[in-house]
Amino acid sequence: MFHVKHAHFDVIVVGGGHAGSEAAHAAARMGARTALVTMSRDGIGVMSCNPAIGGLGKGHLVREIDAMDGVMGRVADRAGIQFRLLNRRKGPAVQGPRAQADRALYKAAMLEETDARPNLDVIEGEVVDFLFAGQRAFGVALADGSEVRAHTVVLTTGTFLRGVIHIGDSREVGGRMGDKASVRLAERIDGLNLPLGRLKTGTPPRLNGRTIDWSILESQPGDPEPELFSFLSKKAEARQVACGITHTNATTHEIIRENLSRSAMYGGHIDGVGPRYCPSIEDKVVRFADKDSHQVFLEPEGLTTDTVYPNGISTSLPADVQAAYIHSIRGLENAEIVQPGYAIEYDYVDPRALDLRLAVSSCENLFFAGQINGTTGYEEAAAQGLVAGLNAAAVALDRDPVIFSRTDSYIGVMIDDLTTRGVAEPYRMFTSRAEFRLSLRADNADQRLTPKAIETGCIGEERRVAFEDKMAKIDRVREVLGELSLTPKEVQAAGIEVAQDGSRRSGLDLLAFQDVQFSDVVSLEPGLSGTEPEIARQVKNDAIYANYIARQMRDVEALRREEGTGIPSDFDFDQLQGLSNELKGKLRAARPENLAQAGRVDGMTPAALTLILSRLRQDS
Ligand code: FAD
Repeated sequence: MFHVKHAHFDVIVVGGGHAGSEAAHAAARMGARTALVTMSRDGIGVMSCNPAIGGLGKGHLVREIDAMDGVMGRVADRAGIQFRLLNRRKGPAVQGPRAQADRALYKAAMLEETDARPNLDVIEGEVVDFLFAGQRAFGVALADGSEVRAHTVVLTTGTFLRGVIHIGDSREVGGRMGDKASVRLAERIDGLNLPLGRLKTGTPPRLNGRTIDWSILESQPGDPEPELFSFLSKKAEARQVACGITHTNATTHEIIRENLSRSAMYGGHIDGVGPRYCPSIEDKVVRFADKDSHQVFLEPEGLTTDTVYPNGISTSLPADVQAAYIHSIRGLENAEIVQPGYAIEYDYVDPRALDLRLAVSSCENLFFAGQINGTTGYEEAAAQGLVAGLNAAAVALDRDPVIFSRTDSYIGVMIDDLTTRGVAEPYRMFTSRAEFRLSLRADNADQRLTPKAIETGCIGEERRVAFEDKMAKIDRVREVLGELSLTPKEVQAAGIEVAQDGSRRSGLDLLAFQDVQFSDVVSLEPGLSGTEPEIARQVKNDAIYANYIARQMRDVEALRREEGTGIPSDFDFDQLQGLSNELKGKLRAARPENLAQAGRVDGMTPAALTLILSRLRQDS
């Protein structure tokens, strides 16, 4: 018999991982009295796998969470020990901020943020059941016999639902190494008649950094000027460190090939589907058989630990084989393994059972977010947590739903992908998933989403003031630039090469040229000389893309008009130059009958659709 022990809340969030933390903070920021119910306080903000946040596509998600006043970006900035902007040499649209984090600092910063958040209580305990009145969830029951009641419940239990850990042929029930699985709750979810599946993921062995021969390895430092995640952060707080780089070799691959039958993934012990984009080393050796070397990044897990995370060699081989292949790698000949790599298999819910708020369509007031929905990665989990937390609070407080769309954010792209297409393998964010990636950049996430956050009422005063101040400065600079009307001769006289075509150009027109810098334009309008570097950079980025975005919008409109155009069943996608091999493969498999169907193929972009359309026109 359960008894009520706790206060009544507006929102309960179950699970204190990345989805749960973000969900709980989002609900509390909305003003909802929120309970974060999790197995242990000590587990809040734990990074189960690699000690890093961000990257391509994922960094965009973190910036968007931050633009909504979420916590992940600020916490990562406090814990970051190496910041790098990936794709720095390419355009801002595909650049991704990434930080390697000190695990302990990350956890401590997340806990500090959580304890300091008004409206948010942490309750330690294992949730074993939901409380339902008919189809409406109104709380959870804990293993100690107590109940917590609320208007809405958000479930974010990650890899814990019927989790099974595999190392070679040994298997053990667990949510991740060192944590017990959620079996009773999984059995309860069975009763909700939701479509369930099984997925798997893996992690590499951890090494003792004092036993690595760093002296013979290449070192990879971070950027000299760290690119932070949060629009509010000013500087990296923690000491910055370098990573090491080494490579697997023919001997490593031979050891792995000889022992494939002993791998949990290859020995037939695991049914779940694994992440194609974070393959295990067994996967890499089999799938890329022609390659005799793969890069391994040796990432320190923190400033006060010797543990090193060898990024790129996750595995489910037995411990003795892990030791043998590790010792075959340059610099790791004497490396001590402090924790073996393992694979984990777990239940997930087909996210097509959810709506755009991440609410379960068949139950009222129940939301799911994070890895439980078939995604992989901290950032994907946190972004879903934000969506579910905001909407669970909106229901509890009787406010409008908070919906993200494919045109305003990567968050919207992910939610739409998950809820309309489902997942065939663990879903990870990439820039290629966003049709509108020229406008959905990491650098302008605040311009896209902070107004929505202000309207939604989930934003603190500090951010609102900072954002409005920044936008006022940007608008002022744009106005001055827009009012300039310069002849080609005047432009040339300032040392900027332009066609001598008689056209007058504004300052924004000039900044649209890749190689014209803000400082070049300042020489034409001294009134701009005091512009802060951050404002100058933003105006430059926006100007570069303004023309492309206008063209993209025209293409999108044209495609919308042509959606019904048929694609013959023998249409040869392979002949299209400019389509990636991955996309060609997906189109061959999906065999879309018209452009509208082709547009829904995973990874499709307006540019790729335009290619198909023009070939169809040539053929007709
Ligand atoms: P989690 O971070 O797992 O958090 C779940 C939380 O729920 C925990 O706090 C837990 O204590 C709590 N909980 C569970 N059940 C209950 C219950 N019944 N009652 C109360 N609390 C409960 N991501 C990548 O991007 N790349 C990778 O290569 C990768 N490899 C991974 C390898 C392994 C072995 C694991 C375990 C994870 C890996 N990940 C990887 C995934 C990454 O860790 C997750 O995507 C991310 O942590 C998911 O966040 P989440 O909040 O959904 O769940």
